Amino acid sequence: MAVRLSSRADIPAARRIVVKVGSSSISGENTSQISLLADALASAHRRGTEVILVSSGAIATGIPLLSLGERPTDLATQQAAAAVGQNALIVRYQDALSRYGITAGQVLLTAGDLENDRSRQNAQRAMERLMGLHVLPIVNENDTVATDEIRFGDNDRLASLVAELVSAECLVLLSDVDALYTRPPTEAGARPVGVVPYGDGLEGITVGSVGTGLGTGGALTKVAAARYAADCGTAVLLTSTAQVSQALTGKNVGTWFEPLVSA
Ligand code: GLU
Repeated sequence: MAVRLSSRADIPAARRIVVKVGSSSISGENTSQISLLADALASAHRRGTEVILVSSGAIATGIPLLSLGERPTDLATQQAAAAVGQNALIVRYQDALSRYGITAGQVLLTAGDLENDRSRQNAQRAMERLMGLHVLPIVNENDTVATDEIRFGDNDRLASLVAELVSAECLVLLSDVDALYTRPPTEAGARPVGVVPYGDGLEGITVGSVGTGLGTGGALTKVAAARYAADCGTAVLLTSTAQVSQALTGKNVGTWFEPLVSA
């Protein structure tokens, strides 16, 4: 039975949580954050929460492995980098999770898979079984056949679709920025937004579309993903990867998007 979360403090009571992390938080100079992320996911897993990780970072991880120097601009090389980086990324996660005796399962999906009834049912059945076996699913876009999240989003949209697929009570969107700000956080006068009530139009807030570093998502795709999830009844916490432990233990961090409460 799904628990309705009314505030961040309820996060530890959630039965099922989707955590999404962006490329620049777990690659390059931030590769060591994989360990911090695994620590927080393992604590939640240990207390009985079913955790699904949606992780980008295949392209960013593949770039140095192919000695490309910088992010390729053509799609085929981006896809090649993703193919090479994805397995290295999974090995890094598995190494970090093995310290806690947790087995990860790789799930590669496209938004289109989740829109098609048959593949949606297949994905749902596999995810349920993985969680029944206490495996921690790690989802990424299947970049060889789909390129939506490469072009825009860095998996923000995919994470909201996965949260809907598994009826998660909470979606935690992690990036390099600790909250939604009233304007891009590098601009003077930007203030963090604590709570976004359900249906709030975010008037007076300037949401940027440019991601930081190696990813492609910005605040715009995060807000769109948060709204989609909130419409499906999933509460959303948007915060930084550095604060993942505080986020999963219900501390007062980030921006909380209140979900739709169905009658
Ligand atoms: N699925 C891609 C990845 O894992 C999306 C992120 C991106 O565009 O950098 O790398």
